[in-house]
Amino acid sequence: MITAIRGTHDILPGEVEKWHYVERTARRLCERYGYVEIRTPIIEREELFTKGTGETTDIVQKEMYSFTDKGGERVTLRPEATPSMVRAYVEHSLEQVLPATKLFSLGPMFRYERPQKGRQRQFHQLDVEVFAMSDPAIDAEVIDLAWTLVNELGIGQAELLINSVGCKACRPAFQQALVAALGDDLPKMCQDCQRRARTNPLRIYDCKVEADQPIIDRLPHAIDYLCEACAAHFAGVRAHLDAFGIPWRISHRLVRGLDYYTRTTFEVLGQTIGAQNALLGGGRYDGLVESLGGPDRPGIGFAAGLERLVLALPDSVSATRPRRAFVVAIGEDARGAALTLLRELRAAGLAADMEFESRGVRAQMKRADRLKAYVTLVVGGDELARGEVTVRDMATGAQRPVARSAVIETVRTALTGRETTEA
Ligand code: AMP
Repeated sequence: MITAIRGTHDILPGEVEKWHYVERTARRLCERYGYVEIRTPIIEREELFTKGTGETTDIVQKEMYSFTDKGGERVTLRPEATPSMVRAYVEHSLEQVLPATKLFSLGPMFRYERPQKGRQRQFHQLDVEVFAMSDPAIDAEVIDLAWTLVNELGIGQAELLINSVGCKACRPAFQQALVAALGDDLPKMCQDCQRRARTNPLRIYDCKVEADQPIIDRLPHAIDYLCEACAAHFAGVRAHLDAFGIPWRISHRLVRGLDYYTRTTFEVLGQTIGAQNALLGGGRYDGLVESLGGPDRPGIGFAAGLERLVLALPDSVSATRPRRAFVVAIGEDARGAALTLLRELRAAGLAADMEFESRGVRAQMKRADRLKAYVTLVVGGDELARGEVTVRDMATGAQRPVARSAVIETVRTALTGRETTEA
């Protein structure tokens, strides 16, 4: 037997309906907030991520699915969506094409991580990005969208964390202060932290090693080193969130794992799933568009993990399917008429099925039960002769003859519009 690759999963019927629910809710919400959908390829040039995500990040150093294709080109299965969104924004001059560049996308991402509950090698994200807007109000809109999504999905006990990591102007002073504060403690820290102190000291805040935590707790905080403009921006974001009534908490450790963040960073935490509790995360990236060869435009966005949203859904969200009809043929002679009726039902926009293999009426009724059919239509020699079909309500067992010409409308009344909840 050939099995699925470690860290990848099949999303099976019964589960996929929850995905539809999450995706539908996300799409509707994005549209309400004025975001338009974009779909970019899952495969890109490797340099998009080495330059965009950043050479010193864990993603680029350890987690990328990169290979040389048959044409000799280095390509990568995207580990995150933001660089692709930036590429598409620049490549198609989207700011000239769209009235406002507010984009969203849904799709798979690939990272070679150690798989565990809530962490996979192929996972899926909703990605939301805004370009060319720098006012704190747009940061607040993006955070509001993320927060509202979690709430509309019915996910309780979520927590919003925010921070500001400053900009090109004020970050160097903070980095220096960090390294200075480490002082004699640095050689006692893990290898990763020692490397981070050289390459990107902010990343020390990402360290999960137990023994390093007391040292990290004593380190200075980014928000104490913000320049005037960054401090005013962060105050603006908090004021908007307060006005919206969205509760937030500052987390000094929220520096996020990527190189490109500036100013606002945020995460929404859910209840812990295994060791993972971040439902979504994002922030502002004012230098990224330019560093990828585009004009000097700010950007802000977030990515939500769909696996984690699906896992966090309340139990009351169960799989739903449209109500369906089932056609039963009594005897070989009635099969042609039954198939014609089946096709008519489907052409009329109604969900309908029939048993093709097993001819016995009992077996057909059993199949109707298993499919949780809402109504069954019995087509037999006697009924055909009278120009009728027997309509059976599967919930009550009540049966009545209906004129063949009125069957479609009778079924429509029984089925339409509503959905039935699967057990
Ligand atoms: P990131 O792009 O790392 O900021 O991640 C954004 C969100 O994507 C996280 O908050 C998670 O919900 C989700 N996510 C990231 N990596 C994984 C993974 N390996 N498996 C499942 N979900 C993930």
